[in-house]
Amino acid sequence: MKLRIYKIISKTKVEGPGTRCCIWVQGCSIHCKGCWARETWTFDGGELLNIDEIYNMIRNIKGIEGVTFLGGEPFEQAPALYKLATKIKHIGLTVVTFTGYTYEYIVKAHKKEWNDLLSVTDLLIDGPFEEDKFNLSRPWVGSSNQNYRFLTPTYKYLEKNLSRIKNKIEVRLHENGTIFINGMGDFNNIKKQFKDF
Ligand code: SF4
Repeated sequence: MKLRIYKIISKTKVEGPGTRCCIWVQGCSIHCKGCWARETWTFDGGELLNIDEIYNMIRNIKGIEGVTFLGGEPFEQAPALYKLATKIKHIGLTVVTFTGYTYEYIVKAHKKEWNDLLSVTDLLIDGPFEEDKFNLSRPWVGSSNQNYRFLTPTYKYLEKNLSRIKNKIEVRLHENGTIFINGMGDFNNIKKQFKDF
């Protein structure tokens, strides 16, 4: 089974609790107004990678507590992510999944593959980015409508402490001169500052 990937960062500290491997999937049909990741929308871009290949890469990363799925829209590739997450959990890593769908919508849909992905997710961060509700006061999300669903006890301890976790960004400068910024911040402003620089 294969997963269409936009990008993988083996270690990041700004995409969920602790140090995590982060997988941006390619393809999203939700198309939120003001989305900062429009390059992840098309379903024919990115790279198709075998689940076993991704798993082998992840299990050799030292010092991570889990993996984060974001995108793009993870639930559009739920069967492949379920398979990957099942393997990841067997080696003691946690799973955080972002989605532009609301939790209520996913549950109501009664789709087996969506329920499967929920079943291996410790923390679900749900809801579309809503530009008119832009708010950076909570970690990892950009609008006030988005929610944290603690689907297992693993990250339940965070529930009352979320306001203490600050949003951060990471900036990676590549040898070919390109820059990759991830995390959560005012990306329009950040991009402008890099242009001015
Ligand atoms: S769900 Fe995420 S990737 Fe998709 S349009 Fe909304 S913000 Fe962008």
